[in-house]
Amino acid sequence: MTTTPTPGFATRAVHVGQEPDATTGDVVPPLHVASTHAQDGVETLRHGYEYGRGANPTRDAFQRALADLEGGGAAFAFPSGMSAEDTLVRVLTRPGDHVAFGDDVYGGTYRLFTVVRPAEGLRATPVDPGDVDAVAATVAGEGSRLVWVETPSNPLLEVFDIAALAEVAHRAGALLVVDNTFASPYLQHPLALGADVVVHSTTKYVGGHSDLIGGAVVVAAGLHLPARPGGADLGWTGTGDVAAELRFLQSAIGAVQSPRDAHLAHRGLKTLAVRMERHSASALALAEHLRDHPAVRAVHYPGLAEDPGHDLAARQMRASGGVLSFEVADADHARRVAESTRVFSLAVSLGAAESLIEYPPVMTHAVKQGARWELPAGIVRLSVGLEDVEDLIADIDVALEAAGAVGE
Ligand SMILES: *Cc1c(COP(=O)(O)O)cnc(C)c1O
Repeated sequence: MTTTPTPGFATRAVHVGQEPDATTGDVVPPLHVASTHAQDGVETLRHGYEYGRGANPTRDAFQRALADLEGGGAAFAFPSGMSAEDTLVRVLTRPGDHVAFGDDVYGGTYRLFTVVRPAEGLRATPVDPGDVDAVAATVAGEGSRLVWVETPSNPLLEVFDIAALAEVAHRAGALLVVDNTFASPYLQHPLALGADVVVHSTTKYVGGHSDLIGGAVVVAAGLHLPARPGGADLGWTGTGDVAAELRFLQSAIGAVQSPRDAHLAHRGLKTLAVRMERHSASALALAEHLRDHPAVRAVHYPGLAEDPGHDLAARQMRASGGVLSFEVADADHARRVAESTRVFSLAVSLGAAESLIEYPPVMTHAVKQGARWELPAGIVRLSVGLEDVEDLIADIDVALEAAGAVGE
């Protein structure tokens, strides 16, 4: 007897949520732009669709595909990564609750936890996710409800142990949220490693073409709100079911991705495997080239065998992804390198076909200045795109030369 194997990642990325249209046979389902749906009778919806803020067929298809690729029970598509994060935090915490978050999370996430949500009573403490014992101490001492980490981190590409952090969180009755934006579901499956929730800025690798802003939350199947001292936390829905809570709050506050952007994000998923392979291979080639470059003091990329995160990355990631950073002598040199490339565009963001270069201390990480955690002054971050790697290497070499970083 022949059994059909479970389809692999790339097969599911192409087909889940993309079944040919029942009426026309379109191999790409039509884009559903309608804001409202005709009903067959009062309280008789057609296929459950009523009004676009609640549910939309194009958004649903993308959410099904993303949930499948992350190995989650449900996914929710948001108009931005930040709205996804904010909605998730509102579902999982109440005023007075505590969050232990990685001290090198994305700048917007850092601001959410240090400026925005504390104004509404949330308590939050930055922790070094590389020091699992210290995380455990904070979580126990503060009675944290959430541990929130990003791996690999930005812009130093540190890798953190998702399984160990999940254990620390669960032992204390907290949940672990992992921002999987840098790895994408192709390179890393946080839920399989024990995380409870995954968040994405789909603006980056999922969309993959710098032509949309979007976010997503993926929830482990069957996840419930952790109990509170008084007993079960049943949330707004009376069920305590985290997916139901997210569905309720997303619709209640209207933080939904537009059908057009959901369609683009879904299209991005179909090429994600191929793109991540190429991004990772080119980033490794660039990292190896820069490591041997006389003007470069350090390269941060877990794909390099000597990188401190290499072994852990080899265990929990399929490859090391398309972002790397390197250090030149000082801030002036770093700024000039970032301004001297021709193939790499000087721009924030990452994860797309076109290569991008930036100077993190002022362009993406200014929100953290003065924090315990300081960036090296000479740091430059690259998002390695899909161009020919020879052209990318030549471009960086010319920029290092033009910046006067060579020969000092
Ligand atoms: C960009 C980014 C975000 C925020 O997403 P937006 O789509 O810009 O709102 C969150 N986390 C990480 C790791 C990011 O790179």
